[in-house]
Amino acid sequence: MMSLVYSDDYRKHETGNHPENKERLNVIMNSLKEEGCLEKIDVLEPEAAINEDILRVHTRSHLENVKSFCKDGGGYWDFDTFASPETYKIAKLAAGGAIKASELVLNGQQSAYSLARPPGHHARRNNAMGFCFFNNLAIALEYLRDVRNMKKFLIFDFDVHYGNGTAETFYEDPNVLYISIHQDPRTIFPGKGFIEETGADGGEGYNLNIPMPPGSADNDYIFMLDQILEPAAKEFGADFYFLDVGFDGHMDDPFSRIQLSDDFYPWIAGKMLDIAGPMVLILEGGYNLAALSRCNVKLINVLMDQVTNEYSKYEKDVYTRKMNVSNKISNETKRIFYRIQDMFSPFFEF
Ligand SMILES: [Zn+2]
Repeated sequence: MMSLVYSDDYRKHETGNHPENKERLNVIMNSLKEEGCLEKIDVLEPEAAINEDILRVHTRSHLENVKSFCKDGGGYWDFDTFASPETYKIAKLAAGGAIKASELVLNGQQSAYSLARPPGHHARRNNAMGFCFFNNLAIALEYLRDVRNMKKFLIFDFDVHYGNGTAETFYEDPNVLYISIHQDPRTIFPGKGFIEETGADGGEGYNLNIPMPPGSADNDYIFMLDQILEPAAKEFGADFYFLDVGFDGHMDDPFSRIQLSDDFYPWIAGKMLDIAGPMVLILEGGYNLAALSRCNVKLINVLMDQVTNEYSKYEKDVYTRKMNVSNKISNETKRIFYRIQDMFSPFFEF
């Protein structure tokens, strides 16, 4: 079984014609309804995270700054991060959605997907950025660690942007393996997420970046993830898995030059089911509304079925078609893989 954690109140983070706006969740929910998915999935309302939850990740000054900024009417926090008067409240609800999804998985759900906004993976300990105010995923993780005594976590983030906020929260933490595949940071926000950023102190080797050249498509992603994600995850052996999902690497997305097709999203959902088993999914970006809703339905269909055979079919189709028929892996992608392999050889064998 899978569950969605969602609230209509997420619309109240009112951003007008900003690309991260309430239509994003509206189109996803409408498509799920039209496709009949909502009859087969539990949709649960989140509760807002409490201050104690937020403060495991963020400073009190950040919490207070967001609160007073919204109380004063909101506006542009920085050049691209917008808050409305309700944003403080709704950002806490989004963090609570991630906690709720985590509880569901602990209680035996195969997967739980927090469909929330504002997103979270750029939010830093002491600042909002990149459309994000509180780091939903990090807040859920620290809740699991503190309240539910979980120990080892794997986060796989395939949003097209590097989740700098999440990465830096756990940069020195050997119990959180953060793996991110994203567009080469020399060419996209937030300008971080290079291979050399491997973690620090005790956490060295547990921040694994896979920067992809602009133009990379399904075959390049599938190659990289087959080579790296699965072996690293197996060797690490987490007891809790997060899939941080972004749909902005889609070929129709206005913000990136990555060229993923619709096929990638069911493929990665199946791959993660195979690697992780039960997992929590957290929505981040994705700004082409048609692609966003379509690909969410495809991804959720795989999670709903939970049928390994179905997944095998997906994988076989996508893999053989993309690998053998259309085109080969570029030399640049291979070079990046060898560099990652070399850099991580003290930590992981892949
Ligand atoms: Zn993004």
